[in-house]
Amino acid sequence: MSKRDYYEVLGIDRNASETEIKRAFRQLAKKYHPDLNPDNKEAEQKFKEINEAYEVLSDSDKKARYDRFGHAGVDQNGGFGQGFGGFTGGFGDIFEDIFDMFGGGFSSTRKNAPRKGSDIKYRLDIDFEEAAFGAEKEIEFSRTENCSKCNGTGAEPGTNKTKCSKCSGTGEIKYAQNTPFGKIVRVGTCDICHGSGEIIDKPCTTCSGSGKERKTRKINIKIPAGVDTGSVIPLRGEGESGEKGGPSGDLYIYINVKPHEIFTREGNDIFCEVPISFVQASLGAEIDIPSLEDEIKHVIPEGTQTGTVFKFKNKGIPNVRGYGRGDQYVKVVVKVPTKLTENQRELLKQFAIESGERVSEHKKGFFDKVKDAFTG
Ligand SMILES: [Zn+2]
Ligand SMILES: [Zn+2]
Repeated sequence: MSKRDYYEVLGIDRNASETEIKRAFRQLAKKYHPDLNPDNKEAEQKFKEINEAYEVLSDSDKKARYDRFGHAGVDQNGGFGQGFGGFTGGFGDIFEDIFDMFGGGFSSTRKNAPRKGSDIKYRLDIDFEEAAFGAEKEIEFSRTENCSKCNGTGAEPGTNKTKCSKCSGTGEIKYAQNTPFGKIVRVGTCDICHGSGEIIDKPCTTCSGSGKERKTRKINIKIPAGVDTGSVIPLRGEGESGEKGGPSGDLYIYINVKPHEIFTREGNDIFCEVPISFVQASLGAEIDIPSLEDEIKHVIPEGTQTGTVFKFKNKGIPNVRGYGRGDQYVKVVVKVPTKLTENQRELLKQFAIESGERVSEHKKGFFDKVKDAFTG
């Protein structure tokens, strides 16, 4: 089934403001809210669609991706790159939003439903070469996991959990109420069990009944060759543990590549500068050029000018998707010597005379004369 355009879903213009987006969402959410349309499958579907559209368009990051790439930009199965967090992230807010609209007390059955855990962001600094050729790294981060003592139940092992008698274990209480929109069935969180549906006799002493524990986790991750700063590696299920038996969130590794001493990078191409002497430039020479792997021997021709760029095909960074490599660009920079021996100076003077050039006379200072007296 092809998805409808999110702007179309909310009935707004592509350049609608934040306020307009919110207003459109509130109006439609009111109209199609399941509690106002009991047993209406079509309304339920619409309501989901509206929420999904709002989740994306109300988040500036997601909206930008959607505007550029359409549904593919925010699809959670989008593959490499920043995933779409599913409904878990924004749904709470959206429900609270509607909750506000109706003046409170308007809770959702989702409160007691399994919920996916939050995602974790992790910034990983890697070397230039590691980015180029891939690496395996051990990373350490902290996340919530199910308490190991009580297995996430929150009850001290050996003690009992009993079904809440007020809500019969559903975690919610339903009651009818008259509102300006007509008679609606309100669903509230059970005040005895706070929505869990269970009463714990004796809370677990390790987690104080929360069923969660903060833990340090170490994992090995494979960094594919060709990643760059800004690449994101998603690791499904490595995030915070879920609620009520829901799945864990995801871990997103944000790659940051440290600068290299010699190379800079643009896409998959790399760039460097190599100094050569004016003699090498004039006469031509075989020079050593640094590359990501071995040094390259390269013969520069006679009369090479400073700033000349040589290109070495396929000596750049491998493509992260596994095909091809970038190129390496080498700019030669002619260096003028700053220290000359007497002999070199003499040779250069000869050179100048030969080319009919005028050069300044090197006058020996007092200290040079003293030095000569000692060394000569
Ligand atoms: Zn525990
Ligand atoms: Zn209860």
